Amino acid sequence: MPHAIMLQGRAGIGKLAFAEALAASLLCESPQADGLACGCCLSCGWLEQGNHPDFRLITTEDRVETDESGAEKSKKRNYILVDQIRGISDMVGLSSHRQGMRVVLLHPAETLNLESANALLKMLEEPPAGMIFLLVSHQPQRLLPTIRSRCHKITMTLPSRSEVKVWLAAQGVADPEFSLAQAGGAPLLALEMNDSLRRDDIEGLAGQLAQAERIDPFLIASGWAKTGMATTVTLLQKWVYDLMSVRFYNVVRYFPANTIALQKLGQRADLRRLLDYQRQLAEARAHAAHPLNAELQLEALLLKYAQIF
Ligand SMILES: [Zn+2]
Repeated sequence: MPHAIMLQGRAGIGKLAFAEALAASLLCESPQADGLACGCCLSCGWLEQGNHPDFRLITTEDRVETDESGAEKSKKRNYILVDQIRGISDMVGLSSHRQGMRVVLLHPAETLNLESANALLKMLEEPPAGMIFLLVSHQPQRLLPTIRSRCHKITMTLPSRSEVKVWLAAQGVADPEFSLAQAGGAPLLALEMNDSLRRDDIEGLAGQLAQAERIDPFLIASGWAKTGMATTVTLLQKWVYDLMSVRFYNVVRYFPANTIALQKLGQRADLRRLLDYQRQLAEARAHAAHPLNAELQLEALLLKYAQIF
């Protein structure tokens, strides 16, 4: 067993779920014949309750804070902080429960900042006995090369499309094909998006975008402003991605139902303006949470879209 494993691959394909199952299996007192955790020993119970003494999850998500009114709020940081890494040494000092292993799960590893990455590197260079680091990363190229080189890398790939569709249907997704396309082929993302997406609305938007310069920015903006800037701009980004992708590779990822329209538009688009528009969308997406007038902003973005053709 290597002392550091990096699970790398696209977001939304199940790397974290795999890492959690691996951690449970390593810590389990009586793993099953197939290697999976038993789910009923003391160790599995602790893990389930989130208080296993030999397990540490280090992430940017769900930091629960209590505000002035006493309500609990979860927050998301941008980075894994150095104190979180230093906190691991509390574990190192103590002997593990029943001489078992200790597991540290870091997710997503690319959110280590320079300081926390260097602190982790020190531990990877002199790994404490019995401790295993599981790093989950969507963008391993953003990690320090010195960290990458100290990990045993496992590249996780997508299951076949037909397997994913069967699985999504079993999870209650009404239209696996559509949800999977919108999620760019990532099964867990498709499942997550299934709740928030209404197919009719997305197809309506795609139909409007297919009108190119004849688009009605005011109609779309008034309808979609209520849905929120972030969601709407993300859909625009996917459409523009498909325009570029179909032009250069003749591949449509997110809107397969609009392939013919995308092929025609892709050829007609002014490439310089299209690239420029892609940048503007990225900027709009970054500021989508700001309390500006969403309807006006969307109108402006859609007017610029019309000018690409
Ligand atoms: Zn167990």
